[in-house]
Amino acid sequence: MNDSLIDTLIVGAGPYGLSIAAHAQARGLSVRVIGTPMDFWQHHMPAGMLLKSEPFASNLSSPAPGSSFLDRHPGWSMGQPIPLKQFISYGEWFAEHAVRGIEKVQVEHVQATNPGFIATLSTGEEVRTLTVVIAIGVRQFAHVPAQLSGLPRELLTHSVEHHDLSRFADREVTVVGGGQSALETAVLLAEAGARPTVLSRKDQLAWNAVPQPDPSWVSRAFRGPQSGLGRGWRTWLWSEHPATTRALPDRTRQRIVKNTMGPAGAWWLRERMGHSVTLRLGERIVEAGASNGRARFSTVTSHGGIHLSQTDHIIAATGYVPDIDKITILDPKLRRRLQLRHRSPALSRHFESSVPGLYFAGLTAAASFGPVMRFVHGSSFAAQRIAENLAKQRRTTPPKTVVPSSQADKSVATK
Ligand SMILES: Cc1cc2nc3c(=O)[nH]c(=O)nc-3n(C[C@H](O)[C@H](O)[C@H](O)COP(=O)(O)OP(=O)(O)OC[C@H]3O[C@@H](n4cnc5c(N)ncnc54)[C@H](O)[C@@H]3O)c2cc1C
Repeated sequence: MNDSLIDTLIVGAGPYGLSIAAHAQARGLSVRVIGTPMDFWQHHMPAGMLLKSEPFASNLSSPAPGSSFLDRHPGWSMGQPIPLKQFISYGEWFAEHAVRGIEKVQVEHVQATNPGFIATLSTGEEVRTLTVVIAIGVRQFAHVPAQLSGLPRELLTHSVEHHDLSRFADREVTVVGGGQSALETAVLLAEAGARPTVLSRKDQLAWNAVPQPDPSWVSRAFRGPQSGLGRGWRTWLWSEHPATTRALPDRTRQRIVKNTMGPAGAWWLRERMGHSVTLRLGERIVEAGASNGRARFSTVTSHGGIHLSQTDHIIAATGYVPDIDKITILDPKLRRRLQLRHRSPALSRHFESSVPGLYFAGLTAAASFGPVMRFVHGSSFAAQRIAENLAKQRRTTPPKTVVPSSQADKSVATK
């Protein structure tokens, strides 16, 4: 056990973890960042993917100048999608230049002690820290509809499990879902030589419009300003003022989280889709199982018809649903002490949970701060708010005597 007490341990080195680290370190805090930079983007998004977020809304955040995406790639314009590879290189550059001392290991367990927390790393090291920031991203929240649960692993995967889709060449693959992830996975499957079908409950696919980088003042006045999440006054509010979103009544905010940037394909995907992807719209899977090494499934159409089908493989591109019980690195006693908002932790205006010193950022903060927390664009606001409070706490909470780890998670009070 290393007996020295650090200020903050950040779990995860994606856009949120890295941005929070940059701001916290700039405030002179002792920070350890645990995780491999941009790991999720490297291994859990399909090769060849293009970012849907605009370049100006794809920045990691640092108080030091010169570290935004556009600083690194001047001239990259609106409506010019960023290739995944380019964004990963940008994130890796940020990790190297804007953050100190990232440790490419995992956090395996976090428990409360007094003061603060003990985090156990995959190296076996136990780290004592006054505060912990959980910035673990979306991976563990991958959602597969219950109707597909009867299928074995070789016939059913979630889109999060794929980076290289070439393993599906010459195979029939049914992609379930109607959003960007489903549509882009299907297009990339077709380009990799597979025979993809998109199966969606919706009767029609939704497509985002081609962005107008410089619309007329009349259009701006009517349609509202362009913001990180799109155009329009309300979108601007959710995108640029998450503190206001947090102050809304809970039901309103949940509706906004659900409906903002709902399932829709990017404009540049539409033409690539051509005739290479079969579409089955207005169909809902009601049951699935294995038959002679293939997946068979039945669907009900929006007109009430029933279809029986077979395919070589099903990819569920059915999104991510945050759930505190899936954050298994948190000790169950710690999880039980968290006040929840729709299976996510309820957060203070500084992203602190009901357990003092335990912070959450990214998707798990969306229930409190709204839809922008699902996107890279929210990392700047989150990083500044969290770092500000960590620095304040550091000033007001001088390290106390460290208790032996055998007494951890006893005598800790909730806020
Ligand atoms: C297919 C797809 C396309 C997307 N496209 C866009 C887009 O164009 N624009 C956009 O803004 N958003 C996009 N998103 C959403 C995007 O995932 C989030 O905006 C972004 O990843 C949030 O950053 P993050 O740091 O919270 O999460 P992540 O980038 O997932 O980073 C979290 C990191 O924590 C690590 N981690 C988890 N557990 C541990 C542990 N116990 N110990 C150490 N490390 C751990 C993970 O390995 C991961 O590297 C997309 C998502 C998907 C699935």
